[in-house]
Amino acid sequence: MGVKAQRQGLTMNASSLFQLDCRADSSSAIAIRTTQLSKTYGDTIAVDNLSIDVNPGELVALLGPNGAGKTTTLKLLLGLLQPTSGHAHVFGLDCARDSLSVKGAVGYVPDEPAFYDFLTGEETLEFIAQVRGLPRARAMVELAETIAALQFEHPLTQLVGGYSLGMKKKLAILASILHRPRLLLLDEPTNGLDPQSAATVKAVLRAMSESGVAVLLSTHLLDMADRLCDRGVVLGKGRLLFDGRLQELREQSASGGSSTLEDAFLGMIRLHSEEQ
Ligand code: ATP
Repeated sequence: MGVKAQRQGLTMNASSLFQLDCRADSSSAIAIRTTQLSKTYGDTIAVDNLSIDVNPGELVALLGPNGAGKTTTLKLLLGLLQPTSGHAHVFGLDCARDSLSVKGAVGYVPDEPAFYDFLTGEETLEFIAQVRGLPRARAMVELAETIAALQFEHPLTQLVGGYSLGMKKKLAILASILHRPRLLLLDEPTNGLDPQSAATVKAVLRAMSESGVAVLLSTHLLDMADRLCDRGVVLGKGRLLFDGRLQELREQSASGGSSTLEDAFLGMIRLHSEEQ
């Protein structure tokens, strides 16, 4: 199918697509609540009895080694996965049962964003605006400042098929804030970005959190977590190992408050592995 036919098909699909439902419970003060949340894949326990709360305006780093369950947790919160047991709520909505409404309240940036190659960046944002029931024209106007700050190396009028990973990541970040979400879930948000773009993304996240948006981001960059986030949630093999201020994590480590976050983090993971 040619690019033109693909675009026409997409426009028709978009107009018949459901408009995302935004019935997040505004009376619920808690942005995220997981209660004994678990997810297993066969014999693998990806998330194990996880209970955490995140409040509006909090900027929280989700930390843990490879396979700790970070991505699975984010997908459970978005309703992309069904829990094996326990519950996840976003603004009082059950993430498994009310996943459509949850998607209306949440902005999500996956680790490896995928878009239609046959649309331009601008058309992608307009398409997402249309699916979300927003005026198409608003997308580019509202995001103009962030687009300029992110410094795309090619204009957004070019086809997404030619974008680098970094450009796709920047586009995903724009798409995630388009509908002014009250909660942002980001999987490795600065992965693939050059230092300048990464700094802009951090500034965007900080500004959003200051305006009351709850932000939960997974990262392996302890330095970034330390500078950006007040709070860290550390997972090890799906289990909650630590939930609190990152300064407290440093203080809990054997060498006390003088240790780096990396020392404290590695010490905690080592201890957890030895206990298994
Ligand atoms: P990373 O830092 O490497 O991205 P993570 O902390 O995000 O890891 P998850 O991707 O959530 O970890 O994976 C948690 C566990 O669940 C791992 O053992 C992983 O192999 C397993 N897992 C994840 N997705 C699946 C799947 N679709 N099928 C089977 N096992 C899976």
